[in-house]
Amino acid sequence: MKQITDFPSVPLALLPTPLYKLENLSRETGKNIYIKRDDMTGAALGGNKVRKLEFLLADARAKGADVVLTAGGPQSNHAMLTAACAAKLGMSAILVLKKRGVLSGGNLILDEIFGAEVRFVDTDSYDGVYAEMERIMADLRAQGHTPYFIPVGGSVPLGCLGYVNCAKEIANQAEDLGVDFDIIVSATGSGGTYAGLTLGAKLFLPGTASVGIGVCDDPFEAISLDLMEGTAALLEADVPVDPADIRIHYHIGPGYAIPSPEGTAAVKRLARTEGILVDPVYTGKALAGFFQLLEEDSAFRDAENILFLHTGGAGALFAV
Ligand SMILES: *Cc1c(COP(=O)(O)O)cnc(C)c1O
Repeated sequence: MKQITDFPSVPLALLPTPLYKLENLSRETGKNIYIKRDDMTGAALGGNKVRKLEFLLADARAKGADVVLTAGGPQSNHAMLTAACAAKLGMSAILVLKKRGVLSGGNLILDEIFGAEVRFVDTDSYDGVYAEMERIMADLRAQGHTPYFIPVGGSVPLGCLGYVNCAKEIANQAEDLGVDFDIIVSATGSGGTYAGLTLGAKLFLPGTASVGIGVCDDPFEAISLDLMEGTAALLEADVPVDPADIRIHYHIGPGYAIPSPEGTAAVKRLARTEGILVDPVYTGKALAGFFQLLEEDSAFRDAENILFLHTGGAGALFAV
């Protein structure tokens, strides 16, 4: 098997991110609940996409790219973080965003501050967004530029390496703390974080289950399996990727990026017990799904130590 360090990466994140016990929430729930603060990865407002971008933008740089294109919803954390990280590396960023949902405030303010060019596409499907990106890239090439394409969420095997690495980081921190995690819970939006983490758990945290909370109605079981297989192939990892490793629970509420009452309650609960912000689109819903599993799922009821991966997203709290 290859090492993660065999793959070029650019230093964008402050690693390792903190991992510690949430004392108040643990007391309230009667479980040992820990948090991994990937909302503190150090670029912009932090968040999970920075780990993926370390590998993706290294690839962009190696290919001589001067402009990076990516896609997302109008409040995409991934797009905003791509703009921030591209700026640091002296590349320009074009964000091609679906003209749906909340079209002002939040991450759109930050996109502008980071100097990204935002183009909206009036479509419900990413096929339409990707077609527009192809047109933009053809124009850029005709003008002598070298564009680099990153799909929604940076969820390709190269990006997933960032979360294989995160699992390794968690294994080291767990050893330092002397704790064995029964379960790691994370939000799932395009599948890459969950796929990388689940593969990484298989490699570095045997005995720890990885549970994803889907926040949109894509088939994450199939998407994660695909990404895990692609990432395992990239790493030449000799572990079989097993559909039984994949456990997705959904908390979508009224729809992707539309707050749910349980998600909003979870945002306030973590804020008021621990002074930590989660967001209404991803991490608040993931936390709501986690609280539900704590009550209803036997694996969670039997678990002693559970880790919640905080993937960021605070910018969405200010979307208006
Ligand atoms: C993108 C994102 C996720 C989901 O990660 P994926 O790799 O796209 O599944 C979770 N939380 C936040 C805050 C995000 O921005």
